[in-house]
Amino acid sequence: MSVNQQAHTGPPYGQPQPGYQGYQQPAYGGQPLPGVPQSQYGAYNGPMPGYQQPVPPQGYFPSLGFPSKGSPVSLNSDTSSLAPNFIGSLRAPPTSGAPPPASGASLPSGHLAYSQFGHGDVQNGIPASAAPMQRPPASQPFLPGSAPTPASQTSTFQQYGPPAAGVQQLSNHVAGMTIGSTTASAPPPAGLGYGPPTSVPPVSGSFSATGSGLYTPYTASQGPPPTSVSQGLPLAQPPFPSQPISTQRLPTQVPGFAPPPSSTGIGPSSYPPTTGAPRPPSMPGPPLPGQTVAGPPTSQPNHVSSPPPPSTMTGPHPGPPMSGLHGPPPPTHPPQPGYQMQQNGSFGQVRGPQPNYGGAYPGTPNYGSQPGPPPPPKRLDPDSIPSPIQVIEDDRSNRGAEPFVTGVRGQVPPLVTTNFLVKDQGNASPRYIRCTSYNIPCTSDMAKQSQVPLAAVIKPLATLPPEETLPYLVDHGESGPVRCNRCKAYMCPFMQFIEGGRRFQCCFCSCVTEVPPHYFQHLDHTGKRVDFYDRPELSLGSYEFLATVDYCKNNKFPSPPAFVFMIDVSYNAVKSGLVRLICEELKSLLDYLPREGNMEESAIRVGFVTYNKVLHFYNVKSSLAQPQMMVVSDVADMFVPLLDGFLVNVNESRTVIASLLDQIPEMFADTRETETVFAPVIQAGLEALKAAECAGKLFIFHTSLPIAEAPGKLKNRDDKKLINTDKEKTLFQPQTSFYNNLAKDCVAQGCCVDLFLFPNQYLDVATLGVVTYQTGGSIYKYAYFQLETDQDRFLNDLRRDVQKEVGFDAVMRVRTSTGIRATDFFGAFYMSNTTDVEMAGLDCDKTITVEFKHDDKLSEDSGALLQCALLYTSCAGQRRLRIHNLSLNCCTQLADLYRNCETDTLINYLAKYAYRGVLSSPVKTVRDALINQCAQILACYRKNCASPSSAGQLILPECMKLLPVYLNCVLKSDVLQPGPEVTTDDRAYIRQLVTSMDVAETNVFFYPRLLPLTKADVDSDSLPAAIRNSEERLSKGDIYLLENGLNIVVWVGVNVQQGLIQNLFGVSSFSQISNALSTLPVLENTFSKKVRSIVDMLQVQRSRYMKLIIVKQEDKMEMLFKHFLVEDKSLSGGASYVDFLCHMHKEIRQLLS
Ligand SMILES: [Zn+2]
Repeated sequence: MSVNQQAHTGPPYGQPQPGYQGYQQPAYGGQPLPGVPQSQYGAYNGPMPGYQQPVPPQGYFPSLGFPSKGSPVSLNSDTSSLAPNFIGSLRAPPTSGAPPPASGASLPSGHLAYSQFGHGDVQNGIPASAAPMQRPPASQPFLPGSAPTPASQTSTFQQYGPPAAGVQQLSNHVAGMTIGSTTASAPPPAGLGYGPPTSVPPVSGSFSATGSGLYTPYTASQGPPPTSVSQGLPLAQPPFPSQPISTQRLPTQVPGFAPPPSSTGIGPSSYPPTTGAPRPPSMPGPPLPGQTVAGPPTSQPNHVSSPPPPSTMTGPHPGPPMSGLHGPPPPTHPPQPGYQMQQNGSFGQVRGPQPNYGGAYPGTPNYGSQPGPPPPPKRLDPDSIPSPIQVIEDDRSNRGAEPFVTGVRGQVPPLVTTNFLVKDQGNASPRYIRCTSYNIPCTSDMAKQSQVPLAAVIKPLATLPPEETLPYLVDHGESGPVRCNRCKAYMCPFMQFIEGGRRFQCCFCSCVTEVPPHYFQHLDHTGKRVDFYDRPELSLGSYEFLATVDYCKNNKFPSPPAFVFMIDVSYNAVKSGLVRLICEELKSLLDYLPREGNMEESAIRVGFVTYNKVLHFYNVKSSLAQPQMMVVSDVADMFVPLLDGFLVNVNESRTVIASLLDQIPEMFADTRETETVFAPVIQAGLEALKAAECAGKLFIFHTSLPIAEAPGKLKNRDDKKLINTDKEKTLFQPQTSFYNNLAKDCVAQGCCVDLFLFPNQYLDVATLGVVTYQTGGSIYKYAYFQLETDQDRFLNDLRRDVQKEVGFDAVMRVRTSTGIRATDFFGAFYMSNTTDVEMAGLDCDKTITVEFKHDDKLSEDSGALLQCALLYTSCAGQRRLRIHNLSLNCCTQLADLYRNCETDTLINYLAKYAYRGVLSSPVKTVRDALINQCAQILACYRKNCASPSSAGQLILPECMKLLPVYLNCVLKSDVLQPGPEVTTDDRAYIRQLVTSMDVAETNVFFYPRLLPLTKADVDSDSLPAAIRNSEERLSKGDIYLLENGLNIVVWVGVNVQQGLIQNLFGVSSFSQISNALSTLPVLENTFSKKVRSIVDMLQVQRSRYMKLIIVKQEDKMEMLFKHFLVEDKSLSGGASYVDFLCHMHKEIRQLLS
């Protein structure tokens, strides 16, 4: 029977106008949802930190009367008298999801208990009191009820070890330098720049560039961050542009490299005569005594021990020596062996043949080509160019100690890699919203000129560290939240009360709205409401409103959501042990479904489906003695064969569910069915939720390309030959629109789809992922799944996925003050109009990136405001609005824009922009556009903000000095420049993951964290100081750990002491280390414990359980590790950091000339 198949029609959320397409502010009739305790908000059980193997609930009696292996499930509906006896009473409380402390101060709605602010220290209207705000814990200052569960959240902090002293030292001394402008006569080694993978050695080993140091990280004591990284040297004579800079410490000077100077000082054509200069015209300084400028021996360039030699001089310098600040006058500097230069290979002036270099930057003019012998190759000293590690360490030490207080408009928060606390004093925490810039141009002309994208990366349900307060839940009763009459913005700290408090003027649209009588309050002498500090919506950046019935679909309060587990039971799934593993896990995992606050049990109901070519539904009604199976073989028109008994309460149906989960592996143990369907599975889940009139989530465990005859059937269309062709984009597009339509239906119902894939071959992630993607779901992929090596990772992912905080039936809208508006959105969601982002489900990890454009002028006085409003249904079925507000500064000077940018956020936006671009444009076009945009951003800075200097200098804004290195990482990522080992499914998968990543995740994904384990302090809890991602930084005698959010790679050098190997791997020699290990052996020694604790610490920080891979130096697998060394040239043709920086410089110069 087909149940209730009609899609809900009509405006789901009321009337289609300004507000939430219809969340009018209405004749409220909102009542708290019956049965839903209001006090518990915010208390989601939380991901269990360190969730271990769950203790099987005592209430389970799995063996109770099950059919033996192979016997069909009983279809009789006979009720068991036993069942009720086991319900509830024997159930052990969850071991890790401890109920929240019951200490919640019960506050009547609207009561004043919230006034913990100091009433002084007002900044921007928001109190900036330093006094600790002792608000009621977490969620409920305004509702009677209990306290939140402070301890149940996973920390989002990153923890880093002490700063790398060596790196710091280096970067402090790097000076401007020029490359490319020398006149040495030695011809460059041909083809080294982007040679084939095998030609690497000469490159990395041999740099001779030394420079005197202007690269001075700013510190707080130095005042505002310098806006310019004066980079390098002039190209033209008189080549001393960097000298003035060197006398002031502020600007961070990245060693420059100048392309060949022209007679005008800009163009390449007038490069100083090359004749006869046997050496680079000038080196800004000599190597320090004892310093090995030339770098490691070329024969083994890649494994010099870190830290690299502290060169104070990093580059050949045309012209006279640098000032004394930079050390001794430049000595004559003999051409360095292996001194390699952009001349040929890289981005060089003279582009020679570049064998095997896949043309990363084709189309680049032969900038700098000149008659006569090419200048000698030169190479920037990697230590002289901006170091991500240094920037991260500097931010940590400068900004990690003090809480970030959000009371001031337009403040740039600490980096995502810095561990800091946030105090909400009127603007949303950076954990919820980060912006590409906190000071935006007043006019669109300025914005266009700068090319800096204006974007916010929003994570509306972000998990907060336990020390921070969850958003308060505000209940305005049946009248609902107070909103602007015109634009429907919600009451927030920036609304201006006037006329003695009887009206308020909207900060977004200026419309004046009457204050509803129940909300009236007098103003104090400063014009501020006297209850200002008592109401979160007047004084905080983030808070929640309890939604009234008008905010609900069909004007009906929602039912609690449901989870449906849908398990592929085809041959591969059974054979690999996957089916049994899932069933075993679910038996205990079901006791950890998300709950709210102090609720004793989850309100979420569960249902079960198995499938191969047909679908099997299970009736697990509590009154049954045995589960019943119903088979639907007509997959063409999917329906749910049972209504009653499909979705059940876990406690009530405990024994029947346990019975079912025991039987499933047995029932299909002998299956020979290899084919599967896929779309009908989603349809079945969708129909079940429709029938139950609730939202929910499908957990689908799937193994293969769905080739069985059914709607949504797919064919294998994988074709790697399409790479680098105009048709490459088809690899990212779904092969049929069927799934797009299905996704739309799912979103309308609030049916979110999480997909766990276990492929042994191509299964078309690009198509299967469509519904997951558009419903706000998560996708997980375990290629060549093997029980022994992959089960921990899968189970940890599954546990976290099932338990994490999630909102259903979500709609997000971002309102802005007059002058800008949200124009583009990136993330996992569906949009049926241009303003509302709809997500069937939105969990605590999902991020939406929003781009803004000007539609009018902004003013420096009023700044710009964002208000993100998320309407969603909680896991208990409560309808809520979560509001995040953020105020930004506006500027008429470009320098202010560049001073307040955040590169990590910019990269998040650019990556998502590019990853979407590959759906419609050739990948090369996308890459070129990225490079071009960044060159324009930097060129605009150079032209308008940097102090006059030679065009030959590369000058980077302080806040963007990592833009080139990070951008290069995006360009050479698997999606944009795949190596031969990367599968089509991998690329589609990564593309989808990145699209929902927050700033911290994209940061570590594109520039992985590399930790020298052998340097770890076994006596402290800290991590060893990270090092840069280059082979040059590795020592053969050390062991390193690299993580990027998806993988942890442990690299073991060939010369590691035998004792260390014994301690970590439990084997006696390097050769005995197995690279098949998926976990580190548990050994009783301090080194083993330390390393395992580091791994555990990293696992907890990430939203996915990372795959652990052991790589031995010089082993085949080392390629995989090198893939992550993103400062080096990649095997797929990606440029090294140094080469890319040279290329960017050239692009910028072209724009400027
Ligand atoms: Zn308004």
